[in-house]
Amino acid sequence: MAIRPLIEGSSPLLHREVKDVTKFDHSLRELLMDLEDTMFEADGVGIAAPQIGVDLKVALVDMEEDGILQLINPVITHYSTETAVDIEGCLSLPDIFGEVARSVKIELKGQDLSGRPIEMTAFDDVARAIQHEVDHLYGKLFTEKMIRQISLEELEEMYSDDEDHIHGDA
Ligand SMILES: [Zn+2]
Repeated sequence: MAIRPLIEGSSPLLHREVKDVTKFDHSLRELLMDLEDTMFEADGVGIAAPQIGVDLKVALVDMEEDGILQLINPVITHYSTETAVDIEGCLSLPDIFGEVARSVKIELKGQDLSGRPIEMTAFDDVARAIQHEVDHLYGKLFTEKMIRQISLEELEEMYSDDEDHIHGDA
């Protein structure tokens, strides 16, 4: 287990599709542990492997009391037409925050640690975080979908009584 350095937002790995996981061995478990350590250290709500320089479709989403969701080769198979706008940030783009419209319900498939296929449905904040992380695995940053950038001053005003929200990076 180790905290890994976050790579720069301009790094090519954050701007192209990364590779499918094909080896479901101890190195995958180690990667998941490193991602978890790095996500907590950076105070993030999600993290994707390319953010620590790893060329694989692996990501995590912190679902708080529901635990940590492991995404391995995730593919979103359905996006609800209903969307919601909320503020996002990104561990790879410190100090950039902005409004992004995301589907409020998604269906996705992927694999578990052993490579077995899994399917799930996610809603609201978890669906948003999954969409943000899956985008990372396909080389897309939230700033490409941002409707409006929010200044740090504006953000602090909005969440002056809710400090945690300011660090909602993923
Ligand atoms: Zn991000």
